[in-house]
Amino acid sequence: MKVQRITIATLVIFVIGIGIFAQTLQQQEQRSRTLDLQQKGNYLVSLVALHPMEDFYGSKREYIVKTLAEYVTSDGLIYCIVQDPTGSPLLSLAHRDVVAKIPTEVEQRSLYVNGLIRQTYQMEGTDHTISEFAKPIFEGGQRSGTVRMGFDLPPISMFSLGRIKLMAIMAFFAFSMAILVYYGVTLALRPLHEVNQNFRNICIDSVPVSSGSFKNGGVGEIIKGLEQSVFQLKDRYEKIQAENIDLTTKYGVTSFEKHNVFNILDSINYGIIVTDIQDNITHINSYMLNLLDKKRDEVIDHPLSDVLAHDQITAFLSQQEALKQNSGASYIETTFPELASGESFLVSFSYLSGREEDVIGNVISFKNITSEKAAENAKHEFITRITHELLTPLTTINSYNEMLMDDEIDNIEMQKEFYNTINEETNRLTSLVKNLLNISKIEMGSLTLHKGLVKSDWLFDDCLTTVEGAAQKKKITIERNLPDSFPSLFADKELLKVAIINILGNAVKYTPENGHIQFMLTEQEDFIIFEVTDDGYGISKEDLPHVFDKFYRSTDPRVTEQTGSGLGLALTSEIVRLHGGEIEVNSKPDEGSYFKIRLPKEEYYLGKQ
Ligand code: ADP
Repeated sequence: MKVQRITIATLVIFVIGIGIFAQTLQQQEQRSRTLDLQQKGNYLVSLVALHPMEDFYGSKREYIVKTLAEYVTSDGLIYCIVQDPTGSPLLSLAHRDVVAKIPTEVEQRSLYVNGLIRQTYQMEGTDHTISEFAKPIFEGGQRSGTVRMGFDLPPISMFSLGRIKLMAIMAFFAFSMAILVYYGVTLALRPLHEVNQNFRNICIDSVPVSSGSFKNGGVGEIIKGLEQSVFQLKDRYEKIQAENIDLTTKYGVTSFEKHNVFNILDSINYGIIVTDIQDNITHINSYMLNLLDKKRDEVIDHPLSDVLAHDQITAFLSQQEALKQNSGASYIETTFPELASGESFLVSFSYLSGREEDVIGNVISFKNITSEKAAENAKHEFITRITHELLTPLTTINSYNEMLMDDEIDNIEMQKEFYNTINEETNRLTSLVKNLLNISKIEMGSLTLHKGLVKSDWLFDDCLTTVEGAAQKKKITIERNLPDSFPSLFADKELLKVAIINILGNAVKYTPENGHIQFMLTEQEDFIIFEVTDDGYGISKEDLPHVFDKFYRSTDPRVTEQTGSGLGLALTSEIVRLHGGEIEVNSKPDEGSYFKIRLPKEEYYLGKQ
């Protein structure tokens, strides 16, 4: 539709242009012919008027007529009349009927003017415009006649054959030019088309382009298309920029998180190795590098089997991969004798899942479980030992009791002995159970001190009385050293008794027969000090740092043959600590041991006087 309108408008402009052009040409031609006619008329009429009148009747008449006849045919001369002064024609060269159509006033004016005259008139009954040129003939200063010539200047047709030809040639050239210009412009615009098309291709993914609008590719349309494309491109650029910012932020967060994850992995007390599905190591943490004694670049991208040649682990991993189960971590316990001798590790395996829950690698972790293992062993030993410790007195009590009940012992002295033993074993059992209870209470944080005023001499005597029986049995002498005044304490008497009896009891237990023990009480300004010295088996350098550990007992056979649980000194040190005091040990094997308990008096003075 649009193209049709443009075509019609172009044609109208073209026709108007041709019309204006033809009219201009016609006017131009008309002007030039008029000028030409004027010159020719003036010339011819002047030329004829030069002849004396006699030439028009005599010998020259024929020559004049011949000459004028040429003009009649070629230059539009339609009449030439020579008249005498009375107006009678002496020579008349004219088309038939023409002379009769000349208006009388034109003839009259031509006959009576004295110079050259040109008159234009409309020939009667025609649309011809005639130009009449007239000039008087003078002979001997007298007017002897008049020459009149009429020229017909036929109207010039706007579309004469010649002009049509000219216009056709011009139209041909104009069309050729138009076609050339069109193709030139099209060629010149082709890069613009391509730019536009490229823009559209770039934009097409993100912004829909109104298709068909650029098909014919006019400059305006191209510019419009380019403008649209530029807008779309701008839109797309803004979108991409927004996405870019978003991605940069996400990348920053991810990097930060990744960095944090690596930091966390490096700071944990586990070894971690991450592999891809080809079992090449993609990540390893510092703990594991230390364990393997390797640098990161010696490990990353290397096959796991090269880095960690360990038969048990290799077999475990192949077994896990064969099972292809991703239902949580599986594990084995193993050791690395060459890398960490004496230490045990729990090696766990799990699959590393990608976003689509697909397996993208494996995670193998290594946890050092040496201390857990030791604790587990200690617990095992403890249960065995405690069971033994509990069973020993119970068995004695049970068998002695049965014998007494069955009246198997007649002897009164023996019976007394049996009752004493039952009593002692019961006391041992009670003390063991109490120790266990107290230790467990301390560990649970539920042991509360029942403090009161404790007279140190009473405490001293009570403790001594408890161990004296056993000491006498082994003929061990206990030397007492007391100050003149007996200071008082603000403390939990029962617990302090347990603590001091443990020390005194050990001195009796681990001193051979006929040994010596010194039990001493001293007072300082802020403290009361209990000291126990024996000349027994003593404690080795290896055992000494551990004697306050729970369940710790020396492996010295002279110690192990004695009943004991390894809880006494652990409980004692906790009780002293709860009272704000300190305990100290000094010992040498086969020379004896020295224990010192220092308790503050401060609370008593401050709060309870
Ligand atoms: P036990 O029940 O074995 O006596 P304790 O905690 O009281 O447990 O003592 C821990 C260990 O300290 C003992 O097994 C022993 O090896 C050592 N020990 C404690 N007191 C003495 C001492 N007076 N002489 C030698 N060894 C001692």
